[in-house]
Amino acid sequence: MNEDAASLPLVAIRVVSRHYTRGADEVHALQSISLDIARGSFVAFMGPSGSGKSTLLNLVSGIDRPDHGELMVAGELLNDLSEDELAAWRARHVGLIFQFFNLIPVLSARDNVALPLLLTKLDKRERRSRAETALRVVGLADRLDHHPRTLSGGEQQRVAIARAIVTDPDLIVADEPTGDLDARNAEDILNLLRQMKNEFGKTIVMVTHDPRALRVVDQAFHLDKGVLLEGEAADRAGAAIRLAAGGGSVHGAAS
Ligand code: ADP
Repeated sequence: MNEDAASLPLVAIRVVSRHYTRGADEVHALQSISLDIARGSFVAFMGPSGSGKSTLLNLVSGIDRPDHGELMVAGELLNDLSEDELAAWRARHVGLIFQFFNLIPVLSARDNVALPLLLTKLDKRERRSRAETALRVVGLADRLDHHPRTLSGGEQQRVAIARAIVTDPDLIVADEPTGDLDARNAEDILNLLRQMKNEFGKTIVMVTHDPRALRVVDQAFHLDKGVLLEGEAADRAGAAIRLAAGGGSVHGAAS
């Protein structure tokens, strides 16, 4: 990567809109959204149900395309890519993490993590070795041969994080990664994501309702009815989430 590319935001969203047609109705899921996400930062998309968070996450991860506006991610203008081009782009640049882990039950932790590497030219030994390294990074060196059902929820999400980083993507995209975890595991997973940013310079974009997220992210973007809140409205939305959770401060972020 040259210096210019390194100084550009990893994600640049310019006046992006996305609407859906539902019967006779038009749903404006996202309306004229503009935002930048710096390379190496950890950000959250927050907001009530139906505010457009998933739609925005799907755009950033190249799962969906905008109707209007420009969407530049990892140096590629995603607007005009075909389905096949988008799929190839995703495989190179994005690691995905889901609320319910999405692990394959009949595969060991090692084989689950090695799956995305099947799309590369690496041979089996190299795929195995990279999967083991990724599992070590997330603290599961002693669980390589375990199947998902023999792992706790927190451990399964760690396997999913290992699978997301194994291809060394520019961007990690997480959809409610703590939504199915108890408080202690949720805290651990947020800290592990923070570690991916701090130690490996990963850029992480996460949709979450979890107020604990405000302690670990660099920035939270607040959405409401498809609109990005800014200035005082965004401050108020953040304060309301902290208040509902019983305090805590963004500035107390783990380093
Ligand atoms: P959130 O993730 O914040 O809950 P979404 O991005 O899922 O919000 O949805 C935003 C709006 O778009 C909602 O009104 C939702 O019903 C609508 N929507 C999302 N996906 C579709 C779809 N495939 N077809 C029709 N409407 C959709």
